[in-house]
Amino acid sequence: LGMPSVPTKLAERRKSRQIMVGSVAVGGDAPVSVQSMTTTRTSDIGATLQQIAELTASGCQIVRVACPTQDDADALATIARKSQIPVIADIHFQPKYVFAAIEAGCAAVRVNPGNIKQFDDKVKEIARAAKDHGTPIRIGVNAGSLDRRLLQKYGRATPEALVESALWEASLFEEHGFRDIKISVKHNDPVVMVNAYRQLAAQCDYPLHLGVTEAGPAFQGTIKSAVAFGALLSEGIGDTIRVSLSAPPVEEVKVGTQILESLNLRQRGLEIVSCPSCGRAQVDVYKLAEEVTAGLTGMEVPLRVAVMGCVVNGPGEAREADLGVASGNGKGQIFVKGEVIKTVPESKIVETLIEEAMKIAEQMEAEGVTS
Ligand code: SF4
Repeated sequence: LGMPSVPTKLAERRKSRQIMVGSVAVGGDAPVSVQSMTTTRTSDIGATLQQIAELTASGCQIVRVACPTQDDADALATIARKSQIPVIADIHFQPKYVFAAIEAGCAAVRVNPGNIKQFDDKVKEIARAAKDHGTPIRIGVNAGSLDRRLLQKYGRATPEALVESALWEASLFEEHGFRDIKISVKHNDPVVMVNAYRQLAAQCDYPLHLGVTEAGPAFQGTIKSAVAFGALLSEGIGDTIRVSLSAPPVEEVKVGTQILESLNLRQRGLEIVSCPSCGRAQVDVYKLAEEVTAGLTGMEVPLRVAVMGCVVNGPGEAREADLGVASGNGKGQIFVKGEVIKTVPESKIVETLIEEAMKIAEQMEAEGVTS
């Protein structure tokens, strides 16, 4: 049995300052974290905490809650106290909710100071309150709500417009000596978004929160986010990510986690290496892969399991994995760490793989290897 493979990364991480969002470090050499946002009414404390618990269980590390009303602001203290993961209050326009969120003990606040500049001295007061409480701020520039002045200057939400907006927003806090900031410049077009983050990354040392905004339903949103985050993270850009899907937030966390695992930015958990099947397949690969996945989901060790439909690539892939099967002639050759340990009839493939996986997991756990 081997140790988990040493992650190979695509690029050096961009150097950024580090901030603390509650207990989670963001930026610097901290691991890239996965965020999501609740879809409940924040004022419904029970429902919101329930959803946060589900998100936490699925691996979400930081959660954002919207705060559009006084009732929502009033709920923040309980939610922040009872949540197991840091809670960020998402606030637009209303400075009084920013103060409320800071007082409530939220781990961070998302607010764009440009929106509240019109209120005299409020930016200064927010900077002071945030500094006193050690509360970082996320400046979240979004193509859909770009400052009118910049829209006029650039004609539309170009990467340059998004970056200029973000740096201007940051400067409003910097004027008051406040730099406990992370920044996002979201756009629904991955190409614009990637260019915006590249430019922003070159022009400041703030940690960056990646997002493709309004990415769409699960299938489209997953691909847009994976492509855009993949491009940036493979260049070392990005310190925390949120996949935005028109789907339950737990799905966002699953996608975000998988993106990080795919890039070796996070220890991989269970990984099924299954072939797409083709005319040579001698077994129903889809069904087999699904059954093996279902049987092994929830295992706490990083395990690579190969499920291959025939003997062409089968033995090779199965040998590279911790565990695998290469099917042929109504039988499955079961491999553990490159050795054929037995050949079983097709009907026994799934249970044999699960049995062997359990043995490997026990041994890994005994060696202290967990994902
Ligand atoms: Fe086809 Fe065999 Fe490759 Fe699966 S392993 S895709 S069945 S050639």
